[in-house]
Amino acid sequence: MIKAVRGTRDLLPPDTALWKFVDETARSVFRAYNFQEIRTPIFEDTQLFARGVGEETDIVSKEMYTWSEEANPEATLIGAWYTQSKPKYAASAWETRARGQHFEIDMRGESEAFLVELRSKFNPAVVERLRARKDRWPTSHPDSKPPLLIVALPRREADKIQWANLNDVVIEMLDIAEHEPGQRLTLRPENTAGVVRAYIEHSLQSRGLNKLYYIGPQFRRERPQKGRYRQFYQIGAEVIGPPSAGSESPARDAEILELLATFLGKLGITGWTLQLNSIGCAKDRTRYNEALRKALEPVKDKMDPDCQRRAVTNPLRVFDCKVPKDQPIIEKLPRISQFLDEPCRKHFEHVQEILKSVGVPFTLNDRLVRGLDYYTRTAFEFTHGALGAQNAILGGGRYDGLSEELGGPKAPGIGFAIGEDRLVLALNKSAEEMQPKPDVYIAPLGQSMDREAARLARELRQKDVIVELSDESFRLKKSLETASKLGARFALIVGENEIKADAFALKNLATGEQVSVPRTELIERIRTKP
Ligand code: AMP
Repeated sequence: MIKAVRGTRDLLPPDTALWKFVDETARSVFRAYNFQEIRTPIFEDTQLFARGVGEETDIVSKEMYTWSEEANPEATLIGAWYTQSKPKYAASAWETRARGQHFEIDMRGESEAFLVELRSKFNPAVVERLRARKDRWPTSHPDSKPPLLIVALPRREADKIQWANLNDVVIEMLDIAEHEPGQRLTLRPENTAGVVRAYIEHSLQSRGLNKLYYIGPQFRRERPQKGRYRQFYQIGAEVIGPPSAGSESPARDAEILELLATFLGKLGITGWTLQLNSIGCAKDRTRYNEALRKALEPVKDKMDPDCQRRAVTNPLRVFDCKVPKDQPIIEKLPRISQFLDEPCRKHFEHVQEILKSVGVPFTLNDRLVRGLDYYTRTAFEFTHGALGAQNAILGGGRYDGLSEELGGPKAPGIGFAIGEDRLVLALNKSAEEMQPKPDVYIAPLGQSMDREAARLARELRQKDVIVELSDESFRLKKSLETASKLGARFALIVGENEIKADAFALKNLATGEQVSVPRTELIERIRTKP
């Protein structure tokens, strides 16, 4: 039996009702805060994550699903012919047709003068096909002169073919490298880099401040455990734009954090903690990194090899080291809070003042550095006690330099990503309760009643009544049992007498009461809650 791949899972009903509740609540909160949806591709050029997220991060260094796109032989051939021969044939009209390892070109007009290599022998099958095309030409294209036909081949293929006599087909050799390197692609491990790429690619700065949100799967090759999957889902948002549109303002940071508190509140999730830090502006980070390197120099040899490497390449990442024996060393390291310059410190204070004013509680945590390189200034995480080891429900922060890092304009931004899988685990609701139940179970009773029942179901469904439709082969008893099992409020019986009277037996499945209701009054009757 083929099973779902380790670290991935199926989301099944009734659990999907919880996911739908979370998605819909998110969309309605985003609407209230005037965010708009963005959908970016699930895979991107590997470079995007290497540059955006950072080579030294766990995500990029060991967790990405990356592959090389097979170089397409046809596209490669056409591409090679095009670059090598276009200048020569620029004056001529031509068409190409790829056929596996070679491709054919119909030359028109004064092309003979440009022909490079003429051979007298060629693969007979190909020759025949080309000749036939040339012979058909005058009938299918009576107004134009037959083309001169060229067969272009990669040099390595030319050696394999048998040659035949030929003087109306031109063979051109192409120099094609044995292995064209394919493009490196990666399943997105997070969505911020993709959103910023889209921001740059589509010049979204012209829209001023962009308030964007996304909901979708992300992929990381982590060790699977409860709350940690290899395909997991994130709900995220990014506020990004030119500084003139207010993208740097602490008001944006506070709005994002307050939105998150509102969202968790609407989901009924309590008992969360907002951990807040500022990880400094670019200049502070440089000074801080130097201080960290200096402090790590005498102690780094005692650390786990992975942490040692980080101490040299990207000292901030040392804070992500989870090895217990390294913790006392990490505990003594200088903290970013001592390195914030005046504007950066003011920015952070301003964020905190607004949070206090709107009543969102937070805890300052100057060890919080977040596992991605692009963060600057405000960084945060919401944790939840009920989740065990994987207790972070969401994380985010500012990434003022990310757009420039990716070759775009200055576009400060702030965003977050919520782990939807963990959010669903933290919900205090039962999936069964969230699953909408049918309002009516229609039971056709007797021969040819399926047609009438379908008609009635259609009428009710068009008025947004939730209808489950039975089958005329079911006995009434079986229909009623199924209706109760599904949790339907009513059973509606469609039999010959009912059709004649245009009134239907409507049975309240909770009370057992049964009344005959005229067709025109059905909707009203069903909508009235028992
Ligand atoms: P990050 O993009 O690493 O800041 O993660 C943001 C949030 O996504 C985390 O707080 C988690 O809730 C969630 N998350 C990250 N990785 C996983 C995973 N492998 N499985 C489930 N949720 C995850």
